[in-house]
Amino acid sequence: MVVHNNIGKILAVLSRLYPDARTELVFRNNFELLIAVMLSAQCTDRQVNKITAKLFKKYHNPDDIAVLTPDELAQDIRECGLYRNKSKNIVNTCRMLVERYGSEIPADMDELLSLPGVGRKSASVVLIVAFGKPAMPVDTHVFRLARRLGLSRGKTPEAVEKDLLAIIPPDQLGHVHHWIIYHGRRVCSARKPRCKECALQNLCPSRQPQDGFRSED
Ligand code: SF4
Repeated sequence: MVVHNNIGKILAVLSRLYPDARTELVFRNNFELLIAVMLSAQCTDRQVNKITAKLFKKYHNPDDIAVLTPDELAQDIRECGLYRNKSKNIVNTCRMLVERYGSEIPADMDELLSLPGVGRKSASVVLIVAFGKPAMPVDTHVFRLARRLGLSRGKTPEAVEKDLLAIIPPDQLGHVHHWIIYHGRRVCSARKPRCKECALQNLCPSRQPQDGFRSED
């Protein structure tokens, strides 16, 4: 773990920059959140919202999807990347929710990870958004920025997640991954971080003298 004296300052800057940062996925309950998160891999939130606007009019709970075949569900989500695989996972997940969890979404990391197609990042999103539990979804932006900002030297998403959970105050966890994702998309991109206009430049050990390609993330 990296002990980072600037964590409070970094979070203060990010909170000022992105006060409205939040998930762009549209959902009304935990079931809809889980399905939207499962659909969102390699698919924009906007596209997921377009698909789920119709999908959730047809299917209202895990029981409605558990009785479908993957091919039937695939017809409803075919505008989504990897739709055949996602369809199979969503149907199998809904069957498991019905059989093991009384059609409820479990509020436990291991139980969420037991659902087909639900990885650690998706499970963390559900835990933190649906249940307010301490969790840190580590996607490509969070992984990159945590390392650049010196918040973690972890070489895997799990290691970075552990470091961030250790240094970020629990009451801020719900916001931090959104702040970091926004900053990664707008300023600190993988190939061309805009360090000269970055509000974190005085706090960042990876600041580049000029904007440009970085050979190392
Ligand atoms: S100073 Fe540069 S490397 Fe550091 S967070 Fe800002 S854009 Fe990213």
